[in-house]
Amino acid sequence: MHNRTGIRRTFLAAHRRAREWRMVAKALLSTRHPVLAHLIPIRRCNLSCTYCNEYDKVSPPVPIEEMLRRVDHLARLGTSMVTISGGEPLLHPELDAVVKRIRLRKMMAGLITNGYLLSVPRIQRLNQAGLEHLQISIDNVNPDDVSKKSLKVLDRKLVMLAEHADFAVNINSVIGSGIRFPKDALQVARRAVSLGFSSTLGIIHDGEGQLRALDEKERAVYGETQKLGKKSFARFNRFQENISRGKPNQWRCRAGGRYLYVCEDGLIHYCSQQRGYPAIPLQDYTREHIRQEFNRRKTCAPFCTVSCVQQVGLLDNWRSPQIDSSQMEPALLTGGRDHGAGLFSPAGTRDRRA
Ligand code: SF4
Ligand code: SF4
Repeated sequence: MHNRTGIRRTFLAAHRRAREWRMVAKALLSTRHPVLAHLIPIRRCNLSCTYCNEYDKVSPPVPIEEMLRRVDHLARLGTSMVTISGGEPLLHPELDAVVKRIRLRKMMAGLITNGYLLSVPRIQRLNQAGLEHLQISIDNVNPDDVSKKSLKVLDRKLVMLAEHADFAVNINSVIGSGIRFPKDALQVARRAVSLGFSSTLGIIHDGEGQLRALDEKERAVYGETQKLGKKSFARFNRFQENISRGKPNQWRCRAGGRYLYVCEDGLIHYCSQQRGYPAIPLQDYTREHIRQEFNRRKTCAPFCTVSCVQQVGLLDNWRSPQIDSSQMEPALLTGGRDHGAGLFSPAGTRDRRA
C-alpha cells in the first residue's frame, strides 16, 4: 500500500470510529430514535442460494427519487445508521446516489452484498460516495448446490477490496444447518483476517428457521474461530453461545423502534424474518410508532438469531422493561433467522443473506 493511501485510510478509520462512538452515546442518551435501519433498494438477486427467502428474480430497482425520499424520512426519524441490503443491492443502477444521500443526511452508510458485481471502478465509486462499511457473507470454500457465495469464486474480489476500499470490510462466514463442511467457516475467517478485514461467524437454522444446537464438529470450529483472536472480531458473545447450544436468550427485541427493516415497497417491518409486522409505510412512520414498538414485547425473541437486532438491543436491555400482554397486545411471532453481522458492520446484517 502506498504511504499516502495508508495515511488516508488511517484517517478515515479514526473518523469512522469517532462517528460510531457518537452513535452509541446518542443511543444511550435517548431511546426515541432508530439506531439502525436496513433499506432494500431492489429485491432481485443475481444468485439463488437455496436457503434464502429474501430475493426474487424479477423485481425492478426502486426509482431513485423514491429511494432518496426514504433516506430523508429515515433521517427525519433520527436514524443513526442505514445499511443497504437486498436482494443484491449492487444491481441497483444508482446505488452510489443512495449512499451519498445517507452521508449527506449525516447518517452512517453500510452495504451488504454478495460481492459478485464488485469491480475496481465500482469500489472507487463507493469510496467517493462515502460508504463506511461493507459486508460480504461467504458460505463455503467451493460452490455447491446450496450456495455459490464461495471463497474460491470471491477471493479475487476480496483482494480487490483490500487494495482499493477506503471503507471497513467485514466477512461473515456461516456454520450450522445445511452447511456441509463446517471447517470452511474457519478457512474463510482466516483468509479475512489475512487480508486485514474483520470477520464474524453466523449460525444458521434448519429449513423452518428454527434454532438447532451445533453438533460436535461445528462446535469445534466455533471454538477455533474464537481463537483467531481479537483481530478477527469473531464475536461469539453470550447470545451466540446460547444459540450454538440451542438455548433461549433473555433479551428485549426493540425491532420497530431501535431497528427498522424497510422493504422495497417502502413498508416498515420488524426484521427480514418477520415481514408483515407492522407493515406501516415509512412515510407514515412517526416517533410515536417508535415509542410503541420500543416498548412492545416480541414473543419470537427467546429463539431469535437475527444478531444485528440483538446487538442493537444491547444498548437498551438494561432499561425500559417491555410491556406484557396484560397491558398491550404483544406481537405473536415465530422464530427468526440469523443475519450474523455486527452493529458496526453493515449487517448489523443481516446476514445470513449476503
Ligand atoms: S425475529 Fe428476532 S429481530 Fe425479528 S422481531 Fe423477532 S425477536 Fe425481533
Ligand atoms: S443469500 Fe444473498 S446472494 Fe443468496 S440469494 Fe439471498 S440475497 Fe441473493
